[in-house]
Amino acid sequence: MKLSKVSPRKSRQARRIRRVGWQEAGAMELIEAYVTATRGAGASARVTPRFKTFYTYAFASMVDSLRRLAGRSDLGKVALKVTWSNNVKAETVRIEDVTYIVLDQFVGQTFRKLTRFTVREYEARHLDAYLFKLYANLSLVNGHPWAALEFGLCHRRWEDHRVLPRVREEEVEAWLAQQDYFVLAHELAHWFLRSGSLEALAARTNFLASLRVAAAYKEHRKPESWRIRSIDESVRTWRVAYKRAFGALPAASIEQKYRDVYSNVDAEKTDLDVILPVVSQEDEELVEECICDAIATDLVGEFAERAGMRYVDGLRASFAALQNMRFLRQVDAMTKVRVEDLPISCGRLDWDSPDVIRWVAYRTSVFALTLRKSKGVANWTLRDPFTLLDYVANAATLERVHALLSSYNEAFYERLHDHTFDIFAEAASIYIVKELRCDPEYLKLKVMSLTQCITVAKWCCDWL
Ligand SMILES: [Zn+2]
Repeated sequence: MKLSKVSPRKSRQARRIRRVGWQEAGAMELIEAYVTATRGAGASARVTPRFKTFYTYAFASMVDSLRRLAGRSDLGKVALKVTWSNNVKAETVRIEDVTYIVLDQFVGQTFRKLTRFTVREYEARHLDAYLFKLYANLSLVNGHPWAALEFGLCHRRWEDHRVLPRVREEEVEAWLAQQDYFVLAHELAHWFLRSGSLEALAARTNFLASLRVAAAYKEHRKPESWRIRSIDESVRTWRVAYKRAFGALPAASIEQKYRDVYSNVDAEKTDLDVILPVVSQEDEELVEECICDAIATDLVGEFAERAGMRYVDGLRASFAALQNMRFLRQVDAMTKVRVEDLPISCGRLDWDSPDVIRWVAYRTSVFALTLRKSKGVANWTLRDPFTLLDYVANAATLERVHALLSSYNEAFYERLHDHTFDIFAEAASIYIVKELRCDPEYLKLKVMSLTQCITVAKWCCDWL
């Protein structure tokens, strides 16, 4: 018999295949190939071990919760793949009979940064420096390397503000870290729902029933109802952002210009009108997204309790995560239109966009989840018996949670949102066109190859 030499790598592979079986080994190779193709070589190897450990623990804990919800129904195989790249998203990939949740470590890092800008007071220049980096990132992902280079160079020029002042460890609030788990939980909720099990069907029915009653409660709360932001509220938060950026309140003519742009928002539209495509089940994809958000919030709440926090901390983290997700979608929409010299302020999300509907549905479902939790039926596979009267009778509990989330929401607009979309977007476009593109040093860079351009853009943002 001829003995062939087996290389150490091959024998490791053979051991692994013996351990997990041929089929799974094939899926593992394929997911590795998928990650390399979509996120670049080394996307798996660059993951910080500490984060991988956190995510693996949260993943196992949440899979366990969902399997318990499913009872005897078979949800199928699920596995986690943590990566590190410039992708600010998580996704679900099915290979053979395994559902892989691909989670980029970068998602959590970006979320935590955005939330820091929301909950803390930083100079506007710090935010500008970070936004240049964020726009560079999304331009790169969206296939606009030259735009990425311009944003990257601007980020580099804001040298003194590139690094945020350090925060003492004890001042970092624990709930902030729970945001990453919302993204993970949301993808796992898709896996649960797509199992087609009776429990998944029950979760869907119960969610839609609760959403309708919670929407009625929101209407009942008028005028304090959590409605579409009025033009006056938009002006108020924008004035705060403006003062921080320019050191003085806007002149009357500038304020009027702002009002003219935004006053066409249909203030008569109620939240119920906005979420109609969800409650009437008109848009199946959107319905699934909303249910996954609700299931994910409950999972994060439960996980927060397991980590020694309160359920409401998980709720707050989920709220912040979804707000950040929507924020990133808007930045993403802006970078997509930034071809040639279109100002980045051109890409906006309007009231009919799925992200906005999803967000309004989420704010409504928070009332339902709060009441359900307080009565011990938070898990969505259980039907709740609550009517509008029950919501009114428990208003004090609901309003407490609402106030907590509202204060986060206000800070989000005052410190992050309005500056980004109503001040930075315009100013950055002007700065790039007038300053950067007239700089002889920059013009010298224009002879670079595409590969060199990508490398320099990444170097500017410290991603090499
Ligand atoms: Zn989703």
